[in-house]
Amino acid sequence: ESGWMPIDPTKPYDPDNIFAKILRGEVPCNKVDESEHSLAFHDINPLAPVHILCIPKGQYVSWDDFSKNASPEEIADFVRFIGKVARDNEMVEQGYRLLANIGKRAGQEIPHLHVHLFGGQPLGPMLA
Ligand code: ADP
Repeated sequence: ESGWMPIDPTKPYDPDNIFAKILRGEVPCNKVDESEHSLAFHDINPLAPVHILCIPKGQYVSWDDFSKNASPEEIADFVRFIGKVARDNEMVEQGYRLLANIGKRAGQEIPHLHVHLFGGQPLGPMLA
């Protein structure tokens, strides 16, 4: 597995990652919605007719980090927020998919937790 570098969950959060810059307003995004602890925006390179990314506003590298270290309030906000984004964007009737890559080996490129929402078309067995 040449070139495999896992995103190390013990490594400090990198505040220069692109999603940190979006959260600080330094890089624009096509915003869908936000809540106290969460933000949703359209993926810049959509892999389905609807492809939205949901991120916590807190500094969590991955689902592993978030599920362990986020507060109950942040976790509840994020889970409910994702469901609301899907409902508000008419994804429920058609069916949709949630996906989070954890670590480089799973294809995680950006070291800030993001959950992909895919919809708007029949979804094959795998996407992203
Ligand atoms: P992969 O790039 O392999 O899908 P990730 O799971 O880390 O790995 O997903 C990162 C996602 O972020 C990609 O779908 C990519 O298109 C998206 N993305 C990267 N930069 C931006 C940006 N500035 N605005 C919106 N989406 C972005």
